[in-house]
Amino acid sequence: MANNEDLFKQIIAHAKEYGYIFPSSEIYDGLSAVYDYGQNGVELKNNIKQYWWKSMVQYHDNIVGLDSAIFMHPTIWKASGHVDAFNDPLIDNKDSKKRYRADVLIEDHIQKIEDKITKEVEKARKRFENFDEKMFRETNGRVLQHQKEIDDIRERFAALMNANDLAGLKALIEELGIVCPVSGTRNWTDVRQFNLMFATKLGSVSDGADTIYLRPETAQGIFVNFLNIYKTGRMKLPFGIAQIGKAFRNEIVARQFIFRMREFEQMEMQFFVKPGEELKWFDYWKQTRLQWHTDLGIAPENYRFHDHEKLAHYANAATDIEFKFPFGFKELEGIHSRTDFDLSQHEKYSGKKLRYFDPEANENYVPYVIETSIGVDRMFLAVFSNAYTEETLEDGSTRVVLKLPAKLAPNKVAVLPLVKKDGLPEIGKEIFDKLKKDFMVQYEDKDAIGRRYRRQDAVGTPFCVTVDNQTKEDNTVTVRERDTMAQYRLPIAELADELHKKLR
Ligand code: ATP
Repeated sequence: MANNEDLFKQIIAHAKEYGYIFPSSEIYDGLSAVYDYGQNGVELKNNIKQYWWKSMVQYHDNIVGLDSAIFMHPTIWKASGHVDAFNDPLIDNKDSKKRYRADVLIEDHIQKIEDKITKEVEKARKRFENFDEKMFRETNGRVLQHQKEIDDIRERFAALMNANDLAGLKALIEELGIVCPVSGTRNWTDVRQFNLMFATKLGSVSDGADTIYLRPETAQGIFVNFLNIYKTGRMKLPFGIAQIGKAFRNEIVARQFIFRMREFEQMEMQFFVKPGEELKWFDYWKQTRLQWHTDLGIAPENYRFHDHEKLAHYANAATDIEFKFPFGFKELEGIHSRTDFDLSQHEKYSGKKLRYFDPEANENYVPYVIETSIGVDRMFLAVFSNAYTEETLEDGSTRVVLKLPAKLAPNKVAVLPLVKKDGLPEIGKEIFDKLKKDFMVQYEDKDAIGRRYRRQDAVGTPFCVTVDNQTKEDNTVTVRERDTMAQYRLPIAELADELHKKLR
């Protein structure tokens, strides 16, 4: 069995080999942390977006959609706090000339101690079988010591981040003996703040042109359209506005494939509520969003909440839904109770009232907001890495199968004539034409049938339909299921209904 690092490399290679994800500008040696989605990737991505959009907009009578522009008035980013505070602390190693996020260096250090705890606990579990009290106590003592160390670092780290104490961060990195993974030295520069927004100029005369930003999140487009939608949609609290769109962040260290990109896509929903009711709705969205993930049939133990202890100054509750990626549990989605911070800031900076008139209370107020925010690409990685499976079959051979949730798979069915003669391709094409109105279908008649099955398994197609000589006699085909490899015959006339049933 491959270790996690090898497994992750295999997943990345698989994504490329089967037309899911390519490095951007590959023939020019690529562009760091930017990726293109290939013929299968774009389908999976669209299906993820559709699954989210339906669950938000179609299934809620009080949530509507929006598609706001990427370019927005620059003052929006002043009001939101991004111009002054959307920074990451940056540090360079003078020997390797490599650049790091100071906070990530410290978090990685904490992770290493956590890995030690996991090992100790595993060791203790093994020993527990032939119970040896002394050994167990020793082990437990070590665990406690590691935990204390972590708590201590976390506390100091949070205080330094909150106080924006860059010199203190550097001192902590030195004190913990953190070395550069490339040079292995502790020869660090001072820590500096680095703003993650990409700036560009609007207008043709570069001298007089205004600096504008590529949006680092889609949420602000929702806030500045609050009044437009509330008025034109005759909305009543509580109501939500959902948006899917590109966001851009000049990440200092962009690693881990599509987990951290410089150009990515977000699916965000801002839910406006009456002040005082926000925590009730926060809990509602926490549970609803987790359910959305597990409804895909992905095992619930792959998800966990990480409630924030230290809250941003404008939030009164926040949690992350973390997913077990091949490199460990990491944030997949954020759910935040943002109070009236955003709308109040935009009131202040724009001079326009962004209030809701509550007919029952007969008063105007700025609504509170619960935000749910998830990266499309991170969701893609979660689904894709979870689906990647290497199986050993009964005959000792192996197969790689992408067990994607059927409703997200790029192609739902592949139509495969057993041989490329005897009129079978013609029947296959007829079936393709019938099914294509309802499903994404692939038609393939090259290579031996076994090889075609394996290829469809690797691409993640949930059903294969094989046309053979019996089809000519009784109009039935063989249906083969991807995960179980079970095969059964069905009349062609029943195919579409059967597939609809299975995919629902
Ligand atoms: P992280 O701590 O991982 O940088 P964040 O807390 O900055 O994430 P948010 O600003 O809350 O993330 O963004 C909401 C969601 O957008 C995240 O949960 C994630 O799914 C996605 N996201 C954020 N940054 C990136 C990125 N650079 N690449 C891909 N997806 C991202």
